[in-house]
Amino acid sequence: MAGAPTNGVAGHRIVLGKGARKHPEMVKHIAGARMNVIRKDDRGGKRRGAPRPATEPKDGDVIPPLAPDSIRIVPLGGVEEIGRNMTAIEFGNDIIVIDIGFQFRDENTPGIDYILPNTKYLEERQDRIRAVIITHGHLDHIGGIPYIMPRIGNPPVFTRLLTSVLIQKRQEEFPHLPTLNMKVIEKNETITLGKLHVKFFAVTHTIPDAMGVIIETPYGSIVHTGDLKLDHTAGIPSENEVAEYERAFKNEKVLLLMADSTNVENPGFSIPEKQVHKNIEEIIKNVKGRLIIATFSSLLERLIKIIDFAETYNKKVVVEGRSMKSNLEICKHLGLLKAKKETMISTDDMDNYPPDRIIILATGAQGDEFAAMMRMSNKTHAKVKITPRDTIMLSSSVIPGNERAVQKLKDNLSRQGAHIIHYRIADVHSSGHANRDETAWIHKQIKPKFFMPVHGYHYMLRVHGDVAKEANGLKEEDVIIPDNSSIIEIQNGGQKIVKLKEKAASGLVLVDGFSVGSVQDVVIRDRQMLAQDGIFIIFGIINNQNGKLKKSPDIISRGFVYLRESQELLHEVRLLIKETIERATRGQNPINVDFVKDTITDAVSKFLLQKTAKRPMVIPVILTI
Ligand SMILES: [Zn+2]
Ligand SMILES: [Zn+2]
Repeated sequence: MAGAPTNGVAGHRIVLGKGARKHPEMVKHIAGARMNVIRKDDRGGKRRGAPRPATEPKDGDVIPPLAPDSIRIVPLGGVEEIGRNMTAIEFGNDIIVIDIGFQFRDENTPGIDYILPNTKYLEERQDRIRAVIITHGHLDHIGGIPYIMPRIGNPPVFTRLLTSVLIQKRQEEFPHLPTLNMKVIEKNETITLGKLHVKFFAVTHTIPDAMGVIIETPYGSIVHTGDLKLDHTAGIPSENEVAEYERAFKNEKVLLLMADSTNVENPGFSIPEKQVHKNIEEIIKNVKGRLIIATFSSLLERLIKIIDFAETYNKKVVVEGRSMKSNLEICKHLGLLKAKKETMISTDDMDNYPPDRIIILATGAQGDEFAAMMRMSNKTHAKVKITPRDTIMLSSSVIPGNERAVQKLKDNLSRQGAHIIHYRIADVHSSGHANRDETAWIHKQIKPKFFMPVHGYHYMLRVHGDVAKEANGLKEEDVIIPDNSSIIEIQNGGQKIVKLKEKAASGLVLVDGFSVGSVQDVVIRDRQMLAQDGIFIIFGIINNQNGKLKKSPDIISRGFVYLRESQELLHEVRLLIKETIERATRGQNPINVDFVKDTITDAVSKFLLQKTAKRPMVIPVILTI
C-alpha cells in the first residue's frame, strides 16, 4: 500500500481503483488500438518543430525505396471518410503535399476535437518536402495545417489568395506557431518545386479560388481536382468551364487523375448553384416580413450572392454567427464582396427598419447547439425573437448524423409560428460536389491513363472507379482504389499502377483539448466504455485486523442498470464482493489493497457480464482501517 495515492480523510487511506485499467476487455481494446493524440499545447511552445513519432508502439511497415523511374502517391487521409484530405506525391527527391485537412470527431472518438491524417511517412522524409499545395479554403482541406505543419518541417504553402487569407486567419488562433511561408499563386502560373513543374486549373466549387493541381513528370502529369462540380445549365457546362478545361487539358498527357468522389453516387448532374441563387433571389424579392437564412459559413459564394440580392431589393443584412462574420469580412477585404457599407447593419439597428427590409444571415442550419439559429429557435437569443411573420430558409442539406438536431430546430421554429423553407421543399441548396454524369464529363476532358478516386468513403470510391472505366474505357488494372496510407506507385516509367503491400503509418491521430500524455488512447477507450455500458463503483471499508468488510459495501452506478429496480442483482453483487474480499485477504498482513481491488474488479465484471450482458467500468474504492 506504500506509495498509493492518498487523500486527507482522517484516519483513512483511500486508494482509487486503478483496477479499472486492468479490465480484460479494455486491455484487449487498447492492444488493438493504434492511436496517438496531439495535445493542444502542441500548438507551439517548447515542443515546436520537434516531431514525435506519430504512432507508437509500431505502425506502418518498412517501406521499400522509390525506384528512379517510379512515382509514388500516398493518400494520408480522405479516402476512407469525408474529411482530413491529404495526399503526398513523390518523385525522385521531391515530395509535394496536396491539402492538409481534418475531420470532425465521430461516434468512435467521443470527446475528441478533431481527427488528423497520420503524417509519420512525411515526418520521416521532411527534407524532401518541397511544398504544400492547398486546393481551397474548406476545413477538410486546411484544418490540419496548424497541427501538422510543425511536424513536417513547415514547408512553403502554395495556394490562391482567398485560401491563403483563410489559412492565415485560422493561424492567428495559434500564436506560438512559426509563421507560415505562404506563396500566393496567380491564375495560370507555373511553379517549379524541386525538379517538378506544377500548374493549376480553376474549378467550380462553393468557395472562390478553388483549384485543381497538375504536376508534370517525364511520364505524363499527375492531376488532382480538389473538390469540384460544374457550372452548367441542364447538363451543359458553361462556356467558361469548357474553355478552362480545354486550356488545361487539351494538350496535356495525363498519367494519373485523382478526383472528388463525394457525390458520385447521385445520378445525373447536380443542381447548379446559379439555380439555387435564382430561387433565393425570388424568395428575397417576394417575401413578406423578415427573412432569416441559415446556411454554412463556408458557402462563401452563396453568402456573397445573398448580400448582393439584398442590396438589389433595398434590404438590410444582419449577420449572426462568428465564423460567418469573419468569413464575410475577409471577402470584403479582398473585394469579393462589393456590397455598400450601409447594406450591412447590426442587430441593434434592426428595429429602425420595417421587417420586410430585414434579412438575417445566421449560422446553425445543422442544429448546432450554440449557433445563432439554435439560440433563436429555443428563445435564448438575446436580440432576435422569432415571430409568426418571419420566414426562415434553411439553405443547406442535412449532414448525416445531424438529422435529429435539425428536426428539433425545425420543430422549435415552427412552434413559434415561423414559416420554414428548406431544401426538400425548394431548391435553396446545392452541394459543391459533382454528381455521376458531371464527374464523367470531367473525366472525358482530362482523359487520364490511370485513375485513383479520392474524397469519400470506400463505396463511393468504388462507384467512382466504375465511372472512370465507363467514361474513358479504363481497364480494371488502370484503376486503384486506395485506403488511407496505401502506397500507390506508377512504375517502369509510367507503364503500370500498383498498390504496394506495405503501408505507411495509419494509426488515428487525434486532437483532444483535455487529455494528458501517453494514456490518451486509454482515455478514449474509457469514454467509449462509459458511453456504452456505464460505470459501477464499489465503496468498501476493510478491517485491517481480520480482512473483513466493516459493513455491506456501498454501490454507485451510472448508465448501467437502474439500481432501485435491481435489488436482487445488488444483493448478489454485495455477497460476491464480501466473499471475494475475504478470499483475497486471507492470510495477508498487512492487506495488499491493490490485489484485493484487482480481484474484485475481475470477479464483479465477470458476474455483471453473465447477469446483464453488459460490461460497465468497474471501479472498487477500498479503505482500510
Ligand atoms: Zn470543399
Ligand atoms: Zn472537401
